[in-house]
Amino acid sequence: MTTHRIALIPGDGIGREVLPAARAVLDAVGARHGVRFGYDEFDWSCARYLDQGAMMPADGLDRVRGHDAILLGAVGEPGVPDHVSLWGLLIPLRRGFAQYVNLRPIRVFEGLDSPLRGAGTVDLVVVRENVEGEYSEIGGRLNRGFPTEMAVQEAVFTRAGVTRVLDYAFELAARRRGRLTSATKSNGIVHTLPFWDELVTEWAARYPDVGWDSEHIDALCAKMVLEPGRFDVIVGSNLFGDILSDLAAAVAGGIGIAPAANLNPEREFPSMFEPVHGSAPDIAGKGVANPIGAIWCAAMMLDHLGHPEAAAEVEGAIATLLAAGGPRTPDLGGTGTTVSFTRALLELVS
Ligand code: ATP
Ligand code: MG
Repeated sequence: MTTHRIALIPGDGIGREVLPAARAVLDAVGARHGVRFGYDEFDWSCARYLDQGAMMPADGLDRVRGHDAILLGAVGEPGVPDHVSLWGLLIPLRRGFAQYVNLRPIRVFEGLDSPLRGAGTVDLVVVRENVEGEYSEIGGRLNRGFPTEMAVQEAVFTRAGVTRVLDYAFELAARRRGRLTSATKSNGIVHTLPFWDELVTEWAARYPDVGWDSEHIDALCAKMVLEPGRFDVIVGSNLFGDILSDLAAAVAGGIGIAPAANLNPEREFPSMFEPVHGSAPDIAGKGVANPIGAIWCAAMMLDHLGHPEAAAEVEGAIATLLAAGGPRTPDLGGTGTTVSFTRALLELVS
């Protein structure tokens, strides 16, 4: 029996409603695959920030460093600005634990309404560089209040930072359908993205079995809507990956089903799995949050921890339930609840 220690951070709002669903699924599918989970729960959240002045304790990273993975619900609270949860919790974890790959799988499931219906099968993964690129703190504001007022923001692309993400993306493409698309804009951005393009070309030569192409981000966004079925793995910088993964999640049937993984591929530090959605204060406490995003996160975590069959079973059960017209939450047009969907899913994976 393998045992994994998981740090659970339910967070705020519906984060606290969807994590128990993910946990129940992990326990059920784990039991059949000889995998046990031990959980430690942390109350790190905007609620904690309002109460104690910090999202997490000063030694927060040390408290979860020894865990095999982190499963996070959602953080966010009306009245607490986004930058508090971002810089007080998410970014310290992503950067502190070198979670430099942000992975977002997108599927259009049969039985779900999506603007992409008719576009055929969609099964793609966006690989986003997660710790450098456009989201840097380098820059500043000058001449505030004067006609000469300006803002300057530097983007940082390092050979080491880009190529470690390319390693991940090409390896992933080789394991999947062998197609990789790189997001760029080297016609308009003349230093960083030509460098990105050069590194992609250099890395592509190391993976002769992976077919690849490069698309400017504007054209790529249009193609993502018009012919999403042509994509397998898309790799992009921090900003482009962010935009593409939200776009893809929205067109694939809503934010409630989208999962994300912040990976430290070397497994030197714990990776973190969190649904794409936020704390959804408008529906929190009503029991109708869609748990699919969180449950799919649990599947990604199973895969990362070395249990790909168990992960595939969970993902397959989600697909089966949606295709069969089983219970679904109101965001997907149903009258089900978090609990009724989870119960139906547990029957399939237990
Ligand atoms: P935050 O600041 O925490 O990111 P937000 O309002 O910006 O919150 P979400 O919390 O993701 O973003 O909510 C966006 C919309 O999607 C809301 O109307 C919310 O109710 C809905 N939504 C998000 N997640 C889910 C879910 N799992 N199930 C059902 N509806 C959801
Ligand atoms: Mg938000």
